[in-house]
Amino acid sequence: MSFSDLGLSPDLLRAIEDAGYVNPTPIQEQAIPPALTGRDVLGCAQTGTGKTASFTLPMIEALSAGRAKARMPRSLILTPTRELATQISENFEIYGKYHKLSMALLIGGVSMGAQVKKLDRGVDVLIATPGRLLDHFERGRILMSDIKILVIDEADRMLDMGFIPDVEKIVAMLPPIRNTLFFSATMPPEIRRLADKFLMNPKEIHVDPPATMAETITQGLVVVKHGDGRRPGGGQAEKRDALRQLLRTEKPSNALIFCNRKRDVDTVYRSLTRHGLPASRLHGDMSQPERTATLGKFKTGDIKLLVCSDVAARGLDIPEMSHVFNFDVPTHAEDYVHRIGRTGRAGHQGRAITIATPEDGKYLEAIEELTGRKIPRMELGGQASAELKQTDPSDKPSPRRGGRDRGRGTDRGRKPSPQTGTKPEPKPSPQVEAKPEAPPEPKVETKAPEKAPEPAPRKAPEPAPKKATPANESQAPVKGLGEHVPAFMRTVPPKSKPD
Ligand code: AMP
Repeated sequence: MSFSDLGLSPDLLRAIEDAGYVNPTPIQEQAIPPALTGRDVLGCAQTGTGKTASFTLPMIEALSAGRAKARMPRSLILTPTRELATQISENFEIYGKYHKLSMALLIGGVSMGAQVKKLDRGVDVLIATPGRLLDHFERGRILMSDIKILVIDEADRMLDMGFIPDVEKIVAMLPPIRNTLFFSATMPPEIRRLADKFLMNPKEIHVDPPATMAETITQGLVVVKHGDGRRPGGGQAEKRDALRQLLRTEKPSNALIFCNRKRDVDTVYRSLTRHGLPASRLHGDMSQPERTATLGKFKTGDIKLLVCSDVAARGLDIPEMSHVFNFDVPTHAEDYVHRIGRTGRAGHQGRAITIATPEDGKYLEAIEELTGRKIPRMELGGQASAELKQTDPSDKPSPRRGGRDRGRGTDRGRKPSPQTGTKPEPKPSPQVEAKPEAPPEPKVETKAPEKAPEPAPRKAPEPAPKKATPANESQAPVKGLGEHVPAFMRTVPPKSKPD
């Protein structure tokens, strides 16, 4: 199928051609035609599938006739994070280049004045995070009664961030007769309930995450030894040392380095800079102009190493990223999948290397259980990886996020304290650099585990494991998630329903 079969106008087809797209992606193929006819869409799809264009293109088409009145936007896109909102607005500019539609971005962290001026001039497309939108509404600067198209993007992320009450409040203010396009990477019961409430006879579309994402990522795990193994949270200096060694040997062309806590983002960033590894940082406590500028420089390649919190884990589309490093093992297994999914995109090869301490065993077990694969251990500079501590089964973390993360990285008064970050964490031990600061160029080897890992059985029916593995492949590093895509990422296409 080509874009011209979808019912789009010549101006849009021209913009799509300018963007270099040849064929629509599956979500675009399935979502654009019903959306163009005004039918509601429930899309189970994640970033990387082309979902942004699947709602942006029909919106541009529908809004091309008509004019917006002051303070009365004609359409609304709700997204959980400022970065996603900004990314959607960039997409809008690309696809809407031959249309004269006005757009406003209502996100926190930037002054409200400029946003108010835009609203006053009349806006065709409003792209907003829930908190900032409600702020404007409560100050009487916006009327929702003219909104004909509503897009809710990354609904499950909204749930994780505690935004659902705000979203429900906003949707209750919109005209009931409207076209609603609702997207979520996963469909837990809370999201299904919302979809049932907001959508009328939707066309339901499920697309798998891009298969290439997992297959093009090579994973690795370094477990550092540290002096005070009794204290959880210790080993920070050793982890920084391991990171520097990895950066020097892996030579990433660009990399995201994820930390669990914002204050560790700062520490790691300062440490790298001090050691002659120029880096930048990104976390939710930075001002919005700073976040936008940093991300922009990372996208253009002016910044090669970006130390970040999970604010960068989902949804950001940064093409051709060579590496992701987990300076900390994420405490929610699901976050691991999102973080490493930032590399190995669009058919490019990527490497995702996690640095752990022996105390991280329980989190790694949860990750390996979720993904169904062991992460191959790596040796650093000839040193064997330390052993992980055995986990007490009663102490196992849940792979999915829970209510305790509500409000993380949010706008509008829900800002978590910089000290609390993303999880209740023990205090790190005093940071004593254990090694000389300029290590010799070490050799990093990826070593597969002694035994070929048994694919862990998952509750959901798994595809049959590959029957024959050539002998020389059994020792090879496990690539990405292979066929063991976790159940939450694997969506089953519904029986085809008549349109
Ligand atoms: P999204 O899932 O919307 O974040 O899109 C992921 C990436 O795919 C973005 O870089 C888009 O520019 C790109 N993209 C979207 N649709 C297409 C298409 N039909 N052909 C090629 N690339 C696309």
